[in-house]
Amino acid sequence: MEIHFMMKWWGWGDPQKTFPMEDKPNLWSWVCNILALQDKNKISEPVSREQVILPEANINQEFLSEITSKLEANQIYTSDDERLEHAYGKSYADLFYARKGIIKKAPDIIIYPHTHDDVEFIMKSAQAHNVCVIPFGGGTNIVGGVDPRDQTMTAKGMRCIVSLDMKQMDKVISIDTQSQTAIIQAGALGPILESQLCEKGWSLGHYPDSFEFSTLGGWLATRSAGMQSDAYGKIEDMLVSLKMVTPTGTVITRTTPASSAGPDLNRFIVGSEGILGVITEATMRIHKSPEVKDYRGFLFPSFEKGVEAIKECIDKNWIPSMIRLQDEFESQLAFNMKSPKKGFEALIQKQVKKFLLATGYQKPCIMIVGFEGDLKNTQVISQEAVKILKKHRAFSLGKSVGKTWSKDKFNIPYLRDYMMDYAVMVDVAETAAVWSKLLNVYHKTIEEMKKRFAEEDNGTGTGYIGCHISHTYHTGACLYFTYATKQNPNKEMEQYYGYKKLITDTFLKNGATLTHHHAVGYEHSPWMETEVSATGLKALKAVKDVLDPKNICNPGKVL
Ligand code: FAD
Repeated sequence: MEIHFMMKWWGWGDPQKTFPMEDKPNLWSWVCNILALQDKNKISEPVSREQVILPEANINQEFLSEITSKLEANQIYTSDDERLEHAYGKSYADLFYARKGIIKKAPDIIIYPHTHDDVEFIMKSAQAHNVCVIPFGGGTNIVGGVDPRDQTMTAKGMRCIVSLDMKQMDKVISIDTQSQTAIIQAGALGPILESQLCEKGWSLGHYPDSFEFSTLGGWLATRSAGMQSDAYGKIEDMLVSLKMVTPTGTVITRTTPASSAGPDLNRFIVGSEGILGVITEATMRIHKSPEVKDYRGFLFPSFEKGVEAIKECIDKNWIPSMIRLQDEFESQLAFNMKSPKKGFEALIQKQVKKFLLATGYQKPCIMIVGFEGDLKNTQVISQEAVKILKKHRAFSLGKSVGKTWSKDKFNIPYLRDYMMDYAVMVDVAETAAVWSKLLNVYHKTIEEMKKRFAEEDNGTGTGYIGCHISHTYHTGACLYFTYATKQNPNKEMEQYYGYKKLITDTFLKNGATLTHHHAVGYEHSPWMETEVSATGLKALKAVKDVLDPKNICNPGKVL
């Protein structure tokens, strides 16, 4: 896999890559039909780099000269190109503004630490000079997590803002094969980290959809979830210990298998999104590189049937390493992404469709199931799990569907840029609920969003929403929604935040969480009190006040 360090400043991913529409001849006409897009020409392409004017940098000279005296020249940047690349994350709002060349605020200085000591030095200096520090991993968050938001006015004016890009701290420092742990620097991007572990026969096994461009520190700071979380857990479940540099000192937790020494500081720090300090390295649980990677596709007659099947796999403890159950709407999107079959294959497909329609699969739902691990265990689990799936009327689509999904999985995020070129608002929202509430949350969300599409003021009265279950637990599962509708001209942000409010209120009102893995940033912070209670929020603020009394760490986020 080729590794790119920076993404498009205006969009997702590799600057050389776009969504591969050419091998999906049915997709675009299907999208236009669903969203009632009249104008099929691109009408909203990003401005060129030359058209982007950044606000003037607000440099704290004393801080800059102190930093310059210790760090190398290739660790400190104030150029507009660097500032632009660190001005936004990848939320729809971020991309909307970046594509128009509107940069409301950009960090003033970009610093690339090489070591834990560098971070301690930078933080001490930032604290002394009242300079804000925003830790920057891959910049892939979609909640406004790395956007400069400081509003503090001092006698000298606004405070200088540093984006602390961690990507040069990317080493696997050591592997303890006996304990199956590895010490890893926080700035390692997914592919860099996995390739260093893989060379020695190990793997972390954390594969978020943003894997290619996100870092270990970012995953920990946002409590990220990867595709194989059913097997290996969320990132917090893989964490053994860490180091975090705060403005008032460094927190170090111990590398032990378990402990009862007071509240669990690891758990307090994961999800802190840079508001308490900078995670510089972590000891992570690792496992042997899997011998087998077996992905298969199935069809279920309904979302409910698929949910029943997942639940029984979990109850009986035959749990695949990945289960992704798409509802009927997301399955339609997936069907329209396929290249049409030809000749004999097309004939067979027609017969299968006929059979499925006659046997109750009017609204088929795709499930992709993955089994990873050593050969023997994987064989046993897959046999037993597939028996359960079939008991709940799973129709096998074979391994080719699993392979296609696995090949395409990192291409899908490029579709958002493609759609934004046609002035479409497209966003995602994810949550988690216990099994007893899950289907209610699912149905209520679809119902509310469809109602809103019908009232939409963009001249279409329509939109798309689909959902899949992406991570499962003994007590419940994560629901991941994708939705799109035509932009409402001149009211694009009002429209975006309107949908975000509707969907988030619906999650919380029906007993689900504000976010299962995308975190809080500033876009979700208005709901934090409802999520954690007023006293819970007070406790978080109190810890922040002690560790970061001047509020220099990523101000304006989470709380
Ligand atoms: P950044 O975006 O750079 O930062 C995120 C937050 O963490 C910021 O608040 C930042 O200040 C803080 N931070 C970063 N590094 C550190 C550090 N070393 N110390 C302290 N704080 C730090 N998320 C998932 O969990 N699963 C998915 O499958 C997934 N898929 C995605 C797909 C796409 C297309 C996109 C755009 C996003 C996706 N995300 C997903 C969201 C995002 O990738 C995750 O939140 C990811 O963990 C962010 O990592 P990052 O390195 O890019 O962090």
